[in-house]
Amino acid sequence: MNPIKEPTIWRTACYCGAASLSCSAAPRGFMHCHCGQCRRLSGGAFSSWLSLPGEAVQIQGQAALREFAPTANGRRFFCGHCGSHLYTLDARMPEIVGVPAGAVLGPEVGGPAVDQWPSASGHYFCSDGASWVALPGDGMPRRGGADGMSLIPD
Ligand SMILES: [Zn+2]
Ligand SMILES: [Zn+2]
Repeated sequence: MNPIKEPTIWRTACYCGAASLSCSAAPRGFMHCHCGQCRRLSGGAFSSWLSLPGEAVQIQGQAALREFAPTANGRRFFCGHCGSHLYTLDARMPEIVGVPAGAVLGPEVGGPAVDQWPSASGHYFCSDGASWVALPGDGMPRRGGADGMSLIPD
């Protein structure tokens, strides 16, 4: 008898565990962002983002979260204890919850196996990227320019 296949839950948690997020539906997108805001907020050369459908997202530990609004459209939510970035909202895409991919928990807690991840759509805001690291040579589209979205020819 085959075990019942449970639906994959996309689940993230802050480092200290005070706040977490779960989503019962598949991501709508996956991308890598090299913009200055993502670099400062993550401390890394770029941030990888999943776009989750908001109607399937649940937040646990909301009281632990602090909010920072870097732009008129953007709202970023962090754990007030450990500083982990839990999610981002953008008024221009109200149906989407942006989630840092580095916080996604794995199959051992019902999360996605590696082959369930969507393919990333590319690298964005490459023109604003860190000068001290080479862009990954992964063959994905590179985008940049003033809007961060224009295709950069090879
Ligand atoms: Zn925390
Ligand atoms: Zn960014």
